[in-house]
Amino acid sequence: MSQYRSEIDFARQMDASDPLAGYRSQFHMPRTKQGTECLYFCGNSLGLQPKALEAAMAQELEDWKNLGVEGHFHAKNPWMPYHEFLSESLARLVGASPSEVVAMNTLTVNLHLMMVSFYRPTPERFKIVIEAHAFPSDQYAVQSQVRYHGFDPEQALVELQPRAGESALRTEDIEAYIEREGDSVALIMLGGVNYYTGQLFDMQRITRAGHSKGCMVAFDLAHAAGNVPLQLHDWGVDFACWCSYKYLNSGPGSVAGCFVHERHAERFDLPRFCGWWGHDKQTRFKMGPDFHAISGAEGWQLSNPPILSLVAVKTAMQIFDQAGMQSLREKSLKLTGYMAYLLDHLNSDAFTILTPDDPEQRGCQLSILVHQGGRKVFTELEQQGVICDWREPDCIRVAPVPLYNSFQDVYQFVVLFARLIGAAGQLREAG
Ligand SMILES: *Cc1c(COP(=O)(O)O)cnc(C)c1O
Repeated sequence: MSQYRSEIDFARQMDASDPLAGYRSQFHMPRTKQGTECLYFCGNSLGLQPKALEAAMAQELEDWKNLGVEGHFHAKNPWMPYHEFLSESLARLVGASPSEVVAMNTLTVNLHLMMVSFYRPTPERFKIVIEAHAFPSDQYAVQSQVRYHGFDPEQALVELQPRAGESALRTEDIEAYIEREGDSVALIMLGGVNYYTGQLFDMQRITRAGHSKGCMVAFDLAHAAGNVPLQLHDWGVDFACWCSYKYLNSGPGSVAGCFVHERHAERFDLPRFCGWWGHDKQTRFKMGPDFHAISGAEGWQLSNPPILSLVAVKTAMQIFDQAGMQSLREKSLKLTGYMAYLLDHLNSDAFTILTPDDPEQRGCQLSILVHQGGRKVFTELEQQGVICDWREPDCIRVAPVPLYNSFQDVYQFVVLFARLIGAAGQLREAG
């Protein structure tokens, strides 16, 4: 028997007994033109603003106003070591030690910096493996890296495709590919959670398979960080990069995160693109001509970071520290499971869910393929105050986020969706 029920009372009970329900009030919920709260399911694209940010931001503006350059040392949160204030939280978030993580740059920039060091193609071993339907920026990044090294993406870029008629990749198929072709693969770099299908990959097994063939293994965690628990250190992942504005609620284009496994902390022999902020802190301000990298992830920094952006990351990470990734995942499994249950309950063939059924193979997001008139359904959802995401030609992505979405949000969404696809009879509307 299902743990869920299709009446609105069930959603109310779930919200009433949800230990994380209070976190919603720590975020600004967007409103419709009529002034009612939106149903926000777009945390996979841009997370909501923490209410605490305004005061935290004002503090930095105030310190800059009053102290000028002295703020580097005498601001309430001194700017010089500011990125270090984030290391503990980021390490907890991705399952790493603080020296393995750093907040710097933006996601695509970090992917490039990491590939400069860890994509070292040779005539025998030169391929990069990504998943089909990888995020366009990742495709452009790997294509350009391949070309930069004088290889042809036609030969050097491998996109793993699901089996015919399936929308998710099977781990055993990924492993079989690596077993067969791994000797020619320099780098495996998948999205930890694919942005389009919402599939969560078994990063531990993929890393093990890659390493058994001598490949570097990396993940783009844009859709995984803050969405699912991660153990990057224990899994042995070589490097990983993520942005902070999706599930991490740190604001549009905010500073990204980067993980470099401890085993590479002192690989000063590898090529890297350098800047002064990656230079040994003891001697950075001697401004000498020779570069000496900091040990660990910090050694890949280029510039002194944008404090007005890091303050948003810091504020958002405090919320993650309080809530805890494990508790968030527990709620997330129920919340997304509930949405999948209700959609299934509609018993409609007007749509298909692209995201794996198995909760272990997905995070928050469900990708719904609407077979006819999807664009119209999406537009009408928008008009009803639902904020979700549209991907051409027929996909609506919906992400119930455990920090600020409720079971009643999910219920209301499915009621609206049901009406728009003509399956309204299956659910009674909220009273
Ligand atoms: C969101 C996203 C990006 C965006 O890259 P930016 O450099 O932050 O603009 C890249 N890759 C993936 C997989 C994403 O989901």
